[in-house]
Amino acid sequence: MEKFDTVVLGAGLTGLSFAFHFDKTIPVYEKQSRVGGLVRTEDKNGFKFDFAPHLLHLRSNYVKNLIFNTLGLQMDKHNRKAVIYCDERIIPYPFELNLYGLSDKVKNECLKGLEELEKNERDNLEVLQSGSYEDYALRAFGSGIANHYLLPYTQKVWDTDPSEMTCEWMRFLPTAKLEQIKRNANQPNSDRFGYNSEFYYPSRYGIQELANVFAKKLSNIHLNEEAFEIDTTNKIVSFVNGKQVHYETLISTLPLRDLVNMTDLERLKELAGELKSTSVYTINLVVTGKVPEGVHWMYFPDSDIEFYRISFPKNYFLNCTPNDEQIIAVEVGSRDKNLNIEKIRQRVVRSTIKKVILWKTNTIKFNI
Ligand SMILES: Cc1cc2nc3c(=O)[nH]c(=O)nc-3n(C[C@H](O)[C@H](O)[C@H](O)COP(=O)(O)OP(=O)(O)OC[C@H]3O[C@@H](n4cnc5c(N)ncnc54)[C@H](O)[C@@H]3O)c2cc1C
Repeated sequence: MEKFDTVVLGAGLTGLSFAFHFDKTIPVYEKQSRVGGLVRTEDKNGFKFDFAPHLLHLRSNYVKNLIFNTLGLQMDKHNRKAVIYCDERIIPYPFELNLYGLSDKVKNECLKGLEELEKNERDNLEVLQSGSYEDYALRAFGSGIANHYLLPYTQKVWDTDPSEMTCEWMRFLPTAKLEQIKRNANQPNSDRFGYNSEFYYPSRYGIQELANVFAKKLSNIHLNEEAFEIDTTNKIVSFVNGKQVHYETLISTLPLRDLVNMTDLERLKELAGELKSTSVYTINLVVTGKVPEGVHWMYFPDSDIEFYRISFPKNYFLNCTPNDEQIIAVEVGSRDKNLNIEKIRQRVVRSTIKKVILWKTNTIKFNI
């Protein structure tokens, strides 16, 4: 049996980045035939599909220098163009800063909701975010904005009642000022707002390139090696192919529940059983015809529409199709781990076709 000081499980971005920064020669074991984990691009006859749309929002100078200079990844910078389909019309994102685009009825309900707010409470972010997400949405924006957009949209992404969610996940989401919300209710604006108002994307082969440039710098990646058992007493990892390795330190980047279930730690297994998670399913459709010009993605808060977001990757990744076909990437959030993928695919295709009328796309060529 081979023995190592440090062993890494998983060659997604976390495992790759750990090995890159810690020691480029340590073994990294990956169950798939490719590195990248969630950050992967599948190439099917020249059509390039991301597992889920992945865009880079780079804030830290260290990370920018790492990606552009040290790893030498070529990327394009884009100014986000995101829109929302609601109130039977399309308005720019974010909702609260573009009330002017709504019908008078919905706009007035949203503005009326702002009058319900406790000013003091709103100015204190810590208090605002101390309860559930539902409390936050109502306290920060009132019933109009909360009920027309924030709550139904959040419910769809996480497939969870917002009253059961806390606010820690919101760390990137800023809370718009009341004056700005009211001002923008009367006029179109070009305000740049939010953590993702600009983003980068690898222009040649898709987001997979990010994982690939890391992997090129590492010398000990083992693909198609799936760990299935961890003996924490003797510090041994066993793999599906019969291999075993001994470690002093084990770095796992696997989903937490999977990791714990591989070990001999019975008490932890009980606790892991209580972990909750939401899965995102992405259905990619290749279509001919038009998608909304220049739009990167569109949000769908309405509860009667199956999906919460559609992305148009051709508008930020020109090489994603060989000719002038378009890809429509449709995302659905679900807590149901036994979800019938084929059924959800059919439902999504049906409701996308209905909505596709929006932008007059004519033919769906194929979908995966
Ligand atoms: C729908 C969605 C959209 C996202 N969009 C963005 C975005 O736009 N921008 C952004 O910055 N982040 C985004 N993220 C977050 C980003 O995907 C993650 O932060 C990141 O990919 C996590 O990388 P990881 O290496 O920790 O995990 P993973 O990518 O899950 O990697 C874990 C690796 O472990 C491997 N593995 C699993 N089990 C075993 C086993 N038994 N043995 C060996 N290997 C195993 C897996 O195959 C995988 O390669 C998004 C996430 C989701 C779900």
